[in-house]
Amino acid sequence: MTPLRIPFLLVAALLAGPGALRAGGRPAPWPEDRFSAGVDGRFLTNLPLRRIEGTPSVSLQTVRRLFGGRIQWRGVSRRVSYHREGGVVQFDLDSSTAQVLGKPVRLEAPVQVWGSAAYIPVSFLTTPEFQSLAAARVDWSAERKSLTVDPTPSVSSPRYFSYPDRSRVVVELGPRVEYRLLARRGTTLVVRFYNGQARDWEKVSVDDGLIESVEISPQGRLTDFTVALTSHAAPPEIRLDPMPRALIIEAHRRGEGAIDPGLGDEPPSASGHAGRAALPAPRRSSPRADLDAATLTLSPLRTIVIDAGHGGKDVGAVGPHGTYEKDVNLQVARGLADLLNAEGRFRVILTRSDDRFLTLQERSSIANKAKADLFISVHCNAGLNAASSGFEIYFLSEKATDDEAAAVARRENAVIELEGLGGKARGKVEELLWALARNEHINESSTVAAHIARQADKRLGSLNRGVKQAGFYVLRGTAMPAVLVETAFITNPKEEGLLRSARHQQRIIDAVYAGLLDYEKRKIQARLAHSATSGGGG
Ligand SMILES: [Zn+2]
Repeated sequence: MTPLRIPFLLVAALLAGPGALRAGGRPAPWPEDRFSAGVDGRFLTNLPLRRIEGTPSVSLQTVRRLFGGRIQWRGVSRRVSYHREGGVVQFDLDSSTAQVLGKPVRLEAPVQVWGSAAYIPVSFLTTPEFQSLAAARVDWSAERKSLTVDPTPSVSSPRYFSYPDRSRVVVELGPRVEYRLLARRGTTLVVRFYNGQARDWEKVSVDDGLIESVEISPQGRLTDFTVALTSHAAPPEIRLDPMPRALIIEAHRRGEGAIDPGLGDEPPSASGHAGRAALPAPRRSSPRADLDAATLTLSPLRTIVIDAGHGGKDVGAVGPHGTYEKDVNLQVARGLADLLNAEGRFRVILTRSDDRFLTLQERSSIANKAKADLFISVHCNAGLNAASSGFEIYFLSEKATDDEAAAVARRENAVIELEGLGGKARGKVEELLWALARNEHINESSTVAAHIARQADKRLGSLNRGVKQAGFYVLRGTAMPAVLVETAFITNPKEEGLLRSARHQQRIIDAVYAGLLDYEKRKIQARLAHSATSGGGG
């Protein structure tokens, strides 16, 4: 914004006349501090922060550096405005109210000026109004002095899920995006989005029996979205969901919602040594049933407990740019809970929904008390080698898959020291009981893990490291199938950036969710097939 600089300084001097004299080139009178920011997965460090009457504040110049846009001063009216493509924010000096797109928004503290800089509370950047104007998700951690800015494209990456009775594609849309069904050629649909742009061209091979592939292709101010269905799919339903605003395309199987017998044929691939645990044999029979009713009665999943690892004084692993594992775990756990809750047929329980310390025993007892059908613990990996990368999923066993898996278990178990118990506090009898409890569920846990790993493989590509076994205390206490997800390596600077981006978090969440749906579909098929062969009613 070089052309703006000269008039900007002139007006600033005019406006801040007495202020500028008072400043006289001296630093502002408020305590100086620094903060870091992760912007779209890249990191900026050493950004200036001021504590004005205790409120962490940033100058508009810093805001411009992080979000782009331009600043305009109106000395006469003692006003400064911040402009972006999406609209304007107007700040009145010494006032605690800003106008965002003409709507008043309360500030934590009044706007302050020193020299040519106007300071606003950092917390303003996290208000829904500013996030909407900036078209970004913004998080501020006062504890870590760290801001995360995550631009949300107006047309999201396509997401897809295979339910027991149908397949669904979801594209999230910004508020001004319109759509139109452009063409329907045979089994291919083309939807065009107006006033909306996807970030990149993307083609995903879904290949779940109903959907072959989805492709999103930005073209200037438009984006075309192509869904290729198989001949098994009935004409799909297309609708716009309001919250979050999203286009949903849903395809049912031709002919009264029967399950595709072929869908479960391909056994989930489990890398590492997990193949040891038995996976259910594929069924060739073709059971037909009313899936809605069948899902309710035959689904193995009703109550799901999601455990965000660490919390409170236990920050977990720390990234090279200061990202705390506990924060990422909570965001991913919440996102997964939201997705499951949106289905309306699961009971979802979070062991923690905020930043608090919980012992491992408290976590597993929440799951046991709820009589959960599945326990999922969410973590970030840490490696001695900064280059270590990828997604891993663990289930419990006595023997770790390899030295690395043993190291992961040691690290995740280390919280026991913080609990003030020490490993010795667990008696031999207790060990025996937990051993009995877990053997019952080990095959089930490994099946869940394998389905999730297979989805991670499809959705995260080379970043998937597969299924592993290790002895985690947090899983040991649960009397149900349980898995522990290591979403990525927070110690790898590149993956630390990914872990902070909503886009990658969503991919991880979708992979876990899709893996659960696959597991559910497989169990329903097996149960239907079993009741068919044993002569019982379907
Ligand atoms: Zn952890």
